[in-house]
Amino acid sequence: VDGNILHDMEKLQSAIPGFRNQYRLIKRIGEGTFSTVYKAEDLAYDRFDNSWDMEKDNEKWTPPPLKSFSTQSTATLDHTQRRRKPKYVAIKKIYVTSSPTRILNELELLHDLRDCQSVCPLITAFRQTDQVVAILPYFRHADFRQYFRKMTVPDMAIYLKSLFTALSSVHANGILHRDIKPTNFLYDPASRRGVLVDFGLAEREGGTHCICHDDPVARKTRLRAALHSSSAPHNGFPKQDTRPSRRANRAGTRGFRAPEVLFKCTQQTTKIDIWSVGVILLTILSRRFPFFNSADDVEAMIEIATIFGQKRMRAAGILHGCMFDSNIPTIGQVGFSLERIILWSTCRDNGEKLSDDEKKAVEFLGRCLELDPSKRISADEALEHDFMKLGDR
Ligand code: ADP
Ligand code: MG
Repeated sequence: VDGNILHDMEKLQSAIPGFRNQYRLIKRIGEGTFSTVYKAEDLAYDRFDNSWDMEKDNEKWTPPPLKSFSTQSTATLDHTQRRRKPKYVAIKKIYVTSSPTRILNELELLHDLRDCQSVCPLITAFRQTDQVVAILPYFRHADFRQYFRKMTVPDMAIYLKSLFTALSSVHANGILHRDIKPTNFLYDPASRRGVLVDFGLAEREGGTHCICHDDPVARKTRLRAALHSSSAPHNGFPKQDTRPSRRANRAGTRGFRAPEVLFKCTQQTTKIDIWSVGVILLTILSRRFPFFNSADDVEAMIEIATIFGQKRMRAAGILHGCMFDSNIPTIGQVGFSLERIILWSTCRDNGEKLSDDEKKAVEFLGRCLELDPSKRISADEALEHDFMKLGDR
């Protein structure tokens, strides 16, 4: 283990009183933009209700009663306690630079979702001055990049069934995850189970008004206004753009953002998560990670437009009162079929065809990557889709 990590582990152990009596830090398992996550052994797990053994059992989990740290030292724990099979936890140390509201939001949503299948539950959380740590059951998982190229279509169906199971309950609770991507879905190819983690960007559904949810008359009026106020491409774009700028939640990860997020739709729905699942499936089918590799939102739109073509992209923009136009020669009017894209990406452009299973997967992919969020499949519908049956074979 490198010195910096050891130093950080030491700091964490001393920052929280009683920490050493309860947890033994083992290693760092993740470092993100908002937190560092460690694997640790829970030294006193059986003082809790120990029904949350995630490695063994991922069924309904009952949260243990909140208890404060024990001052009892580990050396005095009795023998039976020391010989038991160790229980592991993931300790998420949230960066002190995160805003308190943001941290509270994440913990509150996790608490709301505590009974959801395939969602990693929160065991407890601690705060010491500005430092907050969340304690989660440790979930064994593999690195997506290690297994995605080897996945068969039935493997994909099983993987997605687990992910959609989590999303179905998250969405039923009126919550948008906002950051669906492989590193936030911990999947264990051996047990074929996964859990959704990282509600750091999640939010409750609802928000300000957007043209895409207006009544039809208001929608038409605003659309007309949008079309008139934006200058047509032959005139170029206005030097001093007087149109009001748009503000919308754009949180998420580059490459996984839905078109309505890129178009800054202000009333985003749970369908943004479905788009991101579509990007994961596209990645697996095309055997390319990352599939989209844009530096910013405009580049991201260009990437999407290259596949879907100008015409469909323009129609998608209009849904949110935006004009989409481009003079980039590689963006055609009609774009390409997803089947073509996958054949190209997997170097099968010599007349080879997709297998029957792949065709079913591509049909399902098209349902996840609908540009219009209202036509995009929901998590519940996805679970009922024929594609999921491929995982039962
Ligand atoms: P961040 O907000 O920093 O992205 P995450 O909650 O996504 O934090 O956790 C970062 C990484 O830590 C994950 O990608 C995963 O590798 C690891 N991790 C998080 N929670 C767990 C868990 N319960 N079990 C095992 N590993 C976890
Ligand atoms: Mg994360």
